[in-house]
Amino acid sequence: MTIFRRVTIVGLGLIGGSLGMAIKRRRLAGRVVGVSRHAQTLRTARRRRVIDGGTTDLETGVRDAELVVLATPVDTIAPLAERAARAIQAGAILTDVGSTKAALVRRLERTLPDHIRFVGAHPIAGSEQRGVESANAALFDGTLCVLTVTSRTDRSAVQRVGRFWRALGVKVLTMSPQAHDQALAVTSHLPHVVANCLAQTAHARSLPQPPRSLLEMTRIAASDPELWDDIFLSNRHELLAAMRRFERHWARLRDSITRNDRAALLAMLQAAKRRRDGFEPR
Ligand code: NAP
Repeated sequence: MTIFRRVTIVGLGLIGGSLGMAIKRRRLAGRVVGVSRHAQTLRTARRRRVIDGGTTDLETGVRDAELVVLATPVDTIAPLAERAARAIQAGAILTDVGSTKAALVRRLERTLPDHIRFVGAHPIAGSEQRGVESANAALFDGTLCVLTVTSRTDRSAVQRVGRFWRALGVKVLTMSPQAHDQALAVTSHLPHVVANCLAQTAHARSLPQPPRSLLEMTRIAASDPELWDDIFLSNRHELLAAMRRFERHWARLRDSITRNDRAALLAMLQAAKRRRDGFEPR
């Protein structure tokens, strides 16, 4: 079922590469074109069936696209969107996959010409891996994608991008960019902060084999630092609010241990268990 005649993906990393593979596997586009800064990445992407063709020139790559997906680090998305907007054809839709949304959408609503239809998107899927070599056609299966909507967002473009993600086997949720960043601060960005501190505190050599729990809790600390500094800083207000809430729980737990207060400690362990039991999808 073809949804777009031609899709161009800018940035063929884990997310852009997986998206290209998934589109091709499900035949959702007549042609998938990739834009990368490196000819070698384009060759690998062709070999791995991520794209049908590619270019290192952004303007050439986006010119005939019906849908342009920006899949580069968060801080690079706005400048690339502004360049792409000058080259794309009338009626084309511009979207992205960036992990934070409020600053990006605020900037693009100021800088993009009125006729450019931009839909902010964040597929909530991924891993600590990076690059086109890690691309995986099943990465998005059964996951969630948030589309951001403001009073200025073109509703027909949102519907079309929503249809595209649903055809990839993804549930689609629309919300404001601010609500997205608030939700992701506590569910994704704070866990990264905690994994970072834990990875810096724990010593792999303390035991011949690290416990499974340590590996699970620190897995995301192995993510690309150059993706995550952008994410933390572009969502710093929401992330700092989440960190303050975390610090209050941390301090209460530490105090109960310091005071040898078994009742307070037990109450906190029970409260956390009730919360965690409710995390599993119903
Ligand atoms: P990645 O594997 O490192 O891929 C990023 C790609 O962006 C690279 O392949 C690189 O392509 C390109 N790139 C890097 N810097 C650039 C620059 N200055 N200008 C132009 N292109 C540049 O990262 P990723 O995990 O796919 O992340 C891409 C986006 O998806 C980010 O915005 C991230 O927030 C978002 N996201 C990530 C995850 C996750 O779990 N990883 C989940 C959801 C959303 P070339 O070097 O070939 O040009």
